[in-house]
Amino acid sequence: MDGNPKSGKKPHKEETRLVHGGRRPSEQYGFINIPPYRGSTILYANAADCLAMRNRFTYGRRGNPTMEALQDLWTELEGAAGTVVCPSGGSAVSTGFLAALKAGDHVLVTDSTYRPTRNLCNNFLTRMNIETTYYDPMIGGGIAELIRPNTRLIHMESPGSQTFEVQDVPAIVAAAKARGVTTSIDNTWATPLLFRPMDFGVDIVINAATKYPVGHSDVLIGLVSANEKLLPDLQLAHGELCLYVSSDDIYLTLRGLRTMKLRLREQGANALKIARHLATHKQVKKVIHPALPGSPGHEIFKRDFKGSSGLFAIELDARSDAEVIAFLDNLALFGMGYSWGGYESLAVPFDCTSFRTATAYNPDGRGIRLNIGLEDPDDIIADLENGFAAMAKAKG
Ligand SMILES: *Cc1c(COP(=O)(O)O)cnc(C)c1O
Repeated sequence: MDGNPKSGKKPHKEETRLVHGGRRPSEQYGFINIPPYRGSTILYANAADCLAMRNRFTYGRRGNPTMEALQDLWTELEGAAGTVVCPSGGSAVSTGFLAALKAGDHVLVTDSTYRPTRNLCNNFLTRMNIETTYYDPMIGGGIAELIRPNTRLIHMESPGSQTFEVQDVPAIVAAAKARGVTTSIDNTWATPLLFRPMDFGVDIVINAATKYPVGHSDVLIGLVSANEKLLPDLQLAHGELCLYVSSDDIYLTLRGLRTMKLRLREQGANALKIARHLATHKQVKKVIHPALPGSPGHEIFKRDFKGSSGLFAIELDARSDAEVIAFLDNLALFGMGYSWGGYESLAVPFDCTSFRTATAYNPDGRGIRLNIGLEDPDDIIADLENGFAAMAKAKG
């Protein structure tokens, strides 16, 4: 049996789609997993087909069965019209932007956006004569006042990078639709399993699949999905930028996706247990986790999200670098490094006081972002306690 439900049948639940989506065993000699097809040239059967470019696949860059499997599975999960595969999450952001924008346009971007998205706007888009205005992530329907005649795109990211503000997506989409403005969202934190932007009317959905879909810290890859209206523009931009992702990387992404729901459920539960522990900790000034009361946009999170993932932030009751260093260097289970969404726990310091422009970020303490992995949460808590003990000593 092939994986895709035939039309007319009741759509399958997410767990089932993740297992069966994008698979066509009958076309692969019965093998469960589609292999990584490698190749630039794809041969035509005869001259007439070649002249008419009549082939299921015409050139390696334009697609192969491995790529198509990922596109089909992800499109189904997002409830989108189609998906393009990009070489990284960052390139998924730039592809989404370039699909929607042209010279002379104005774009509204949340002040809580991923830093490289800000760099794209401030530098590359500026050179292309596209102007960016950053807005308060909590602006909601107030975004209407920032829309100009040449505003073409409103970009959201929810929860925001590092500071985890949950945005009022329905209110922003309503304001955008009233003025014919396209909307996009970086949905990396939630994935379509915890928040499905297409159900809220967003036009373009971006995911750094490097994170939860891959889940094992071994591949960089990005996915951009669009509704019927924006899909032609998205496919055109992706094709003209000549983006290509190796089938080996796509194979690993497909492998990761089969277990994504389980990992997200486990990592989300572990993170919540640890966040709750930290919320009452004397050496923690603040825990920023969308599922905890007091986190920015918590009420919106409760209204719109199906659950939380494994990434959140804390502000340590620490003043000096020495205290932060003592804390981090005495964690045995946490790696220190960028990216997240893998099966292993990570801790990195952050500070976004210097680059926010629409909103001031005034931390109560030193910011640490935690990616919670699949370790036992009690082991993680004990490990954090070792860090806190060292931090207290460093305070003297
Ligand atoms: C990591 C990340 C990206 C970029 O993904 P890469 O694969 O590292 O390029 C984009 N957006 C968000 C929110 C991210 O966390």
